[in-house]
Amino acid sequence: MNCMDFNITVLGSGSSGNAILLSLGDNGILIDAGFSRKEILTRLNKLSIPPETIKAILVTHEHSDHVKGLRVTADTLDIPAYLNYETAKFLESRNKLCKKKYIFDSGTPFKLLDFTVHPFRVAHDAIDPVGFIISSSNFNIGVALDIGHMNTLAKCRLKGCHSIILESNYDTELLNKSKRPLKLKRRIAGRFGHLSNDDALNSFHEILTENSKNLFLGHISSECNNHSILTDKARKRLSEIMRKDINLSILSQHEPSGPVLIS
Ligand SMILES: [Zn+2]
Ligand SMILES: [Zn+2]
Repeated sequence: MNCMDFNITVLGSGSSGNAILLSLGDNGILIDAGFSRKEILTRLNKLSIPPETIKAILVTHEHSDHVKGLRVTADTLDIPAYLNYETAKFLESRNKLCKKKYIFDSGTPFKLLDFTVHPFRVAHDAIDPVGFIISSSNFNIGVALDIGHMNTLAKCRLKGCHSIILESNYDTELLNKSKRPLKLKRRIAGRFGHLSNDDALNSFHEILTENSKNLFLGHISSECNNHSILTDKARKRLSEIMRKDINLSILSQHEPSGPVLIS
């Protein structure tokens, strides 16, 4: 690995835990810490990534599949969490917030290491959930996991990103057939729940431009989705919009994906 390679490594993504590592040389940013510290360190170790390269943790929202290991991981590595005020306040009240923190304003870009981070509000049933656009020199990475629907702001922010990490949570038929309680089905499929495969696929033509090279589909439901159905559908849709050249990754809950070299 070249010392200034820019890589995306997804330690895991799904309803039991999410953590995405962006690395530029020796500087790494973790987006969410939804696994225990032990699990995060184990996965980093498998990938031969020294934990000390992680310099900060960006937090999308307070749901446990995004913050489970936040406090202990950040405090062990002695690094700050970057999060908005409402999310910080909630986590603090539950004793889940780490010692070092930086409060950002959702919607206002800020500098972090060699990156510019632009948080944007997303439609999800959390206190103040955000997605992120993370830019470095000529590249920008868009992250939108846990979004109930693709609103204008999300489309606008994600459009034309070099690499996009997008939720594709459930297959509508599998969700309807599942034994989940009706209330939960409604929550998942609601406008502030999670994004369906069809919703994700239908957004491709709006968010992928000639600048787009990598597409990661994540937060895939273990019960109400299927990797091979999603892979087939996504490849078919990319072919329909003449974008078979896009490097598609379907993320896994159990295994890390990547590193994918960005530059
Ligand atoms: Zn969530
Ligand atoms: Zn989640």
